[in-house]
Amino acid sequence: MANIIDGKLISTEIKDEVKAKADELKAKGIEPCLAVVLVGEDPASQVYVRNKKRACEYCGIKSLSYELKEDTTEEELLALIDKLNADKDCNGILVQLPLPKHIDENKILLRILPEKDVDGFHPYNVGLLSIGNADLKACTPAGCIELIKRSGVDITGKRCVVVGRSNIVGKPVGMLLLSENGTVTTCHSRTKDIAEVCRQAEILVAAVGIPKFIKGDMVSEGVTVIDVGINRLENGKLCGDVDFEEVSEKAAYITPVPGGVGPMTIAMLMNNCVIACKKQNNI
Ligand code: NAD
Repeated sequence: MANIIDGKLISTEIKDEVKAKADELKAKGIEPCLAVVLVGEDPASQVYVRNKKRACEYCGIKSLSYELKEDTTEEELLALIDKLNADKDCNGILVQLPLPKHIDENKILLRILPEKDVDGFHPYNVGLLSIGNADLKACTPAGCIELIKRSGVDITGKRCVVVGRSNIVGKPVGMLLLSENGTVTTCHSRTKDIAEVCRQAEILVAAVGIPKFIKGDMVSEGVTVIDVGINRLENGKLCGDVDFEEVSEKAAYITPVPGGVGPMTIAMLMNNCVIACKKQNNI
C-alpha cells in the first residue's frame, strides 16, 4: 500500500511559512496585499474566491475584494485592472476564471502587469517558466512539485510522465519537472499506447479531467502519482483522474482526491503574493 501524500498538511506547512514571511515584511512596514476580482455570481467561483480570502486572512495578507455584476463590460473590467496595476499598495491581482462570455479572458489576463500576475498565467511569466527563471509560477503546477519534493522524492534523473497538455496544468507541470532535472514525456488525447508510456513513469502526473482514467495496469510498482483531477461524480462525490484503489496498490506515493493537489493551489497563490510583494519592494 502506498504512502498517502497529505496535501492538506503540506499546504498548511506552506501557508505557515508564508505567514512568517508576511510577518517579516510587516515588521518592515510593508503589508502584502492581494486584489481578488470576481465578475458575476457563479456559485463555484464564489466558493473559490471566499477560500482565497480566508487563506489571505490566515497568512496575514491583506485582501481587496471586487465583486462585480455579471453585466460588467470588458472596458469596465480593464479599467479596474489598470487602477490596480497603478496601485503601489496592491501586490497581486487575481481575476477569478471563468469570466462571463462577453469578456475576452485573454485580453484581461494580458492587461495584468506580469509582476502582479500571482496566478502565473501571463505569457511573460509562462515564458520565464519555460526558461527555468520564473518568480511567479502557475499555482497548481508549482503545488504538484512541492508535493513531490516535500514527500522526499528526488525528481533528478527520474522518468516523469504528465498526462494532459493544458496551458494551466499539463504544460507548466512538464516544464517545472524538466527544471527539476526530470526526463519528461507529455501525453495527450492523441498519444498512442498511453498505458505503455505511463508504465515507464517513475513519477506520474495526471491532469486529464476524466474520472479514474489512470488504472492499476497503467502504472509500475514504486511510482509516485500526483492526481490533479477534480471530477464531480453523479453521486456528488469528488473523484480524481486516477483510480486510487487500484493504483495505490502499486504506487510508493500517491495523492488522494480530495486532500491532495486541491489545497496546494491556494497555498502556492499565497506564496506568490509574498514573492510579488518582496520583488516590488526590492527585497
Ligand atoms: P483540460 O481539459 O484543459 O485539459 C485536459 C488535457 O487532457 C488535455 O490536454 C487533453 O489532451 C488531455 N486528454 C483528454 N482526454 C484524454 C485522453 N483520453 N487521453 C489522454 N489525454 C487526454 O483540463 P485541465 O484544466 O488541465 O484540468 C485537468 C484536471 O485537473 C481537471 O479534472 C480539473 O478539474 C483539474 N484541475 C485541478 C486543479 C486543482 O487545483 N487541483 C486546478 C486545475 C485543474
